Amino acid sequence: MRYRNIVVLTGAGISQAAGLPTYRGPGGLWTNADLAALADVSALATRREEACAMFWQFHQQIANVEPTAAHRALAQYELTIITQNVDGLHQKAGSRNVVEYHGSLARWRCERCGHEDAPAGPAQPRHCGEAMRPSAVLFGELIPAEAEHAAKRALRDCDLFVAIGTSGTVWPAAGFVRSAQYAGAHTALLNLEIDDEATEHFAEVRAGRADEVVPAFFAALA
Ligand SMILES: [Zn+2]
Repeated sequence: MRYRNIVVLTGAGISQAAGLPTYRGPGGLWTNADLAALADVSALATRREEACAMFWQFHQQIANVEPTAAHRALAQYELTIITQNVDGLHQKAGSRNVVEYHGSLARWRCERCGHEDAPAGPAQPRHCGEAMRPSAVLFGELIPAEAEHAAKRALRDCDLFVAIGTSGTVWPAAGFVRSAQYAGAHTALLNLEIDDEATEHFAEVRAGRADEVVPAFFAALA
């Protein structure tokens, strides 16, 4: 491998082939205003049962899907994965060094004490006498401090930064690629579509389905 410290950022595009819906893109879940309102942190106070039922349903969808060829390819290499996805598919594929930038739907958390558990059912599990909540980052919430810190530290030392399944031009990808360039890293974007702005940000771009371009890109580095 030509590179020693590889950092990969993955977005919804890498999980599309697994059959999971995307969130913000055209036809994405959050283009439905009702669902988006339930994914806002304020819904935990005003419509907690509905919000938790929705996230439980998402978790059920995710539990039934397998990692894609792209997830499996990444799991073969020693690299740091920063993922914006909350589906846990990188871990399921065998990747160990995964920074969950937006948390995870595979764990629910007690807001009192921070204890986390696997979600147990549509009836909300309780801890410290209170209903638990998904450990995913909701709209209006901050990125978990430990994830933010781990991402920054990884980018500071990287010599190759690859963004996968994201446009690459919006936060956080746009900020990450600048940090990686500042660290002197080579930068690449692998996404279904590449727009003009992205070609200005990244040294190398490849358009195509993640399942095809990701295994090919990393095999060529070996
Ligand atoms: Zn607790």
